[in-house]
Amino acid sequence: MQEWVQDARAIVFFTGAGCSAEAGIPTYRGRGGVWSEYRPERCASQAAFDRDPDAVWDFHDVRRAAMAAADPTRAHRVIAALQDGPARVAVVTQNIDGLHTRAGSTVVHELHGSVWRTRCACPDSPRDDHDLPAVRRCPDCDAWKRPDIIWFGDMLNGTVVSAAVDVLRQCDLFVSIGTSAVVYPAAELPRLAVDGGARCIEINPEETPASGLYQHHVRAPATTALAALWPEVADALD
Ligand code: NAD
Ligand code: ZN
Repeated sequence: MQEWVQDARAIVFFTGAGCSAEAGIPTYRGRGGVWSEYRPERCASQAAFDRDPDAVWDFHDVRRAAMAAADPTRAHRVIAALQDGPARVAVVTQNIDGLHTRAGSTVVHELHGSVWRTRCACPDSPRDDHDLPAVRRCPDCDAWKRPDIIWFGDMLNGTVVSAAVDVLRQCDLFVSIGTSAVVYPAAELPRLAVDGGARCIEINPEETPASGLYQHHVRAPATTALAALWPEVADALD
């Protein structure tokens, strides 16, 4: 597998909540997952927002505060540092926490949006929005702002998906990190890399419904696995 890593000329990292778990941001599913505490239909859908926007913002303010307090892990930082190497590097993420960008990655396709943007009725919406807690109504158009993220029942942004599809088709090394691979349509995307002939590695301490797609599995946390795959890059981080 070390050969795969050295030969790679176009790498795509496909990341899910597990990639940020070591930053202290809970995953949705599994032990300690957010959905064991909250009901998704109550706090993450347009219908819930229309019914009770304050309740939905209460939930998101807690999540945003946790994400703001978290720092990128060595996994995010190894991925960003690989940009200085010979391969092109792109990130396709289901995460909404902005940690890849904060770590320095420059090509990041956020399939599920970002908690650090909000939408309102203004023509230049969505806008960057880092207020904590969030200012819930837009001071310019007076509409409720909503986080620019994909909630249950929302469509993905077509432009973001097309850009992700392009990098997935062109990559020769595909590394999935910390996704339970059950959220569609994002869960279908690895198939594009497989069909394009990429070498595929799954990093996840647990087996997932998509494990069969991958030729190689690293059953370890993201930071340990990336340090094992790219030891020189990890060692060079301070
Ligand atoms: P998920 O919560 O469904 O699954 C997390 C996966 O990560 C599991 O398979 C688990 O085994 C694995 N995992 C746990 N710890 C790990 C570690 N240290 N290293 C590697 N893997 C680890 O996550 P999902 O598949 O990304 O789907 C959840 C959806 O929820 C996504 O759409 C995402 O937008 C959203 N979400 C985002 C965040 C975030 O932005 N940080 C957090 C929670 C959920
Ligand atoms: Zn506005």
